[in-house]
Amino acid sequence: MKGIVPLAYNLKKAKAEKLSTDSMYQGMAHAYTGGNIGPISNNITKVWNSGEIGEEQLNVVKWLCFQNNAVIDYAKTLWLPEPPKEIADTIKSYTKAKVPDFFIYAKDKESHQVELPNNSTMNRIAASIPDPKIKFSKTISKFDYRMLMNLDCDFSVSSESPVIKVYDYWNARINEFEDDKAVKNQDMYKYKNLRRKVLEESGKDIDYVVNTLVAYLYTVRKTSAKKGLWDSFGDVIIQNLKNNLDQESKICKICGKRFVPKRIDQVTCSAECARLLDNQNRKLRRSL
Ligand SMILES: [Zn+2]
Repeated sequence: MKGIVPLAYNLKKAKAEKLSTDSMYQGMAHAYTGGNIGPISNNITKVWNSGEIGEEQLNVVKWLCFQNNAVIDYAKTLWLPEPPKEIADTIKSYTKAKVPDFFIYAKDKESHQVELPNNSTMNRIAASIPDPKIKFSKTISKFDYRMLMNLDCDFSVSSESPVIKVYDYWNARINEFEDDKAVKNQDMYKYKNLRRKVLEESGKDIDYVVNTLVAYLYTVRKTSAKKGLWDSFGDVIIQNLKNNLDQESKICKICGKRFVPKRIDQVTCSAECARLLDNQNRKLRRSL
């Protein structure tokens, strides 16, 4: 980067203090209350996302970097400089924006919490990554893998877990289960054997096994293929899902959202959807 130089300033130093449980507690409290660089880092992202980067934008980034340096050292320096009003105002004119569009992926933000996508490098990278194979309706809330688990049972998300190790071992050797040529549905046969091997060799009960595989494959290995999991334990996962759904709930006829009806004949989730259904029915009657 041309013309960018390291920051040089006199960093303050807190007074020397005797170590005691009290002073350590105070230090920890300072680290938690004054040491959060996240918001300032997000503000820097907003400046980079503000379009053309000129001298003023670069200055704002430099000021915020300086501020972040102070914040990250705050617990040991107890020093947090306030920017002069004029500079604070300039900073604010950039940081009142929302975070960039790619924060939907980077920080799990919802679309109303981010700016519209512009042509920034990060947004272009995000746009060039193909959609996942499963598409979720926009109106339903986010996929929650915990709905596939038996939450009354224990599990592990460690890659050292015997469940993950045995699963990986046999999933990679799935075609070795093919020797019985008389079996018609080879795929089903293979995954039945995978299931048997994972249960036998991990020595864990089925709820622990399924919980562990779901939690691990949907978090640590988010983008991995889930065929092995679903083909070998799909029946258990579906049962977990059924148990986790509110038995009273229904799917809204208009938007597809799950809701708990207040009246027995209620078929839409909200007044808004009820109105849309009404309009639809009226149109239908008119066209008949
Ligand atoms: Zn609805």
